[in-house]
Amino acid sequence: MSILPGSVIGVLGSGQLGRMFAIAARRMGYRVHTFSPETDTPTGQVADVEIKAHYDDLNAVRGFASAVDVVTFEFENVPSATAAAAAERAPVRPDGQILHITQNRLREKMFLSRHGFPVTPFKTINSIEDLRAGLAEFGCPAVLKTAGFGYDGKGQVKIKAMEEAETALATAGKQELVLEAFVDFDRELSVVAARGVDGSFAHWGAIENQHSNHILDVSIAPANVPPEIANEAVEIARAVLEQLGVVGVLCVEFFLTRQGKLLINELAPRPHNSGHLTFDACVTSQFEQQLRAVCGLPLGSTEFLRPAAMANLLGDLWQHGEPNWAAACAMPEVKLHLYGKMVPKPGRKMGHLTAMAETANAAAKLVRAARETLANQQ
Ligand code: AMP
Repeated sequence: MSILPGSVIGVLGSGQLGRMFAIAARRMGYRVHTFSPETDTPTGQVADVEIKAHYDDLNAVRGFASAVDVVTFEFENVPSATAAAAAERAPVRPDGQILHITQNRLREKMFLSRHGFPVTPFKTINSIEDLRAGLAEFGCPAVLKTAGFGYDGKGQVKIKAMEEAETALATAGKQELVLEAFVDFDRELSVVAARGVDGSFAHWGAIENQHSNHILDVSIAPANVPPEIANEAVEIARAVLEQLGVVGVLCVEFFLTRQGKLLINELAPRPHNSGHLTFDACVTSQFEQQLRAVCGLPLGSTEFLRPAAMANLLGDLWQHGEPNWAAACAMPEVKLHLYGKMVPKPGRKMGHLTAMAETANAAAKLVRAARETLANQQ
């Protein structure tokens, strides 16, 4: 049975992904409740109701879930117990088990390799001996990552030589760790895809991602890759969503090696930064699609109106004062998105710009130029 407009959607988490989801949901006549340990959040500013409580306050979680028709996520690092408590009172989509797998790099990689998906070579690290053996096997450089709570390069150290092993392990501390071979990639791609309650599938093709300091900087769509590669990435994503039984949106991040092989870097069981450009450039955005999927509605068309690009706006942009918004708005093809965050910290995602053009590269040029104008004196 579909959850129809007028119903209430509960969002666990309160960042920009929830904000854009709430904008899409309210546009279609839904009400949105958000739950997180903070107030005046990016999602809360747009939602009907903002609940401030800790994720491990399970009574608060039950109360939140009792007041909504379906619960979804914008933040995947909520404890399993939180998803389970919510599931006592309302359907949780995607299922808490999917969060459990994807919030830990080791569980995720083991799941993927067990089901035959191509992943970056990896090893579980419990001791200096494991690390030395891993480095000997993969060669240097290699990347040591924490298994849990890592994003945007947090909890990662690149090991350039065997002698750095001990320091790297000491820096990582007593945590579950995974060593990955360093992939000398040609480019990074992502496929954002959705799966409905009835198993229907939709995707926005391969999106190309450029990172700076491990943080996504610019995304362009369609990716500059041959159609066979884009199709292969989509087929891998389709199989991942099926294997996990996702109801909602999930992003598969890939490395494309110089030999033309796709390796999965990681999964995000929610809308993704690389899919932000779908908000302006597509018939249906990743956020509306998440809404449709979790409500059991038919999925919308993912057609691109034109090729598009997105550039992130990080807190670093504020170092000389408020960016010159008027200058970016003076470029009429460029769209400004800000997340309502009050404190601009370096590396913090504060907003993004999108643009459409005749080609994805031309759109990328536009958003980069627009971002540069933000630093101009007002
Ligand atoms: P992650 O948090 O794992 O997505 O890493 C953030 C970014 O760091 C990736 O998008 C890559 O640009 C880079 N990176 C992470 N792991 C590797 C790897 N094994 N080889 C090469 N680059 C990597």
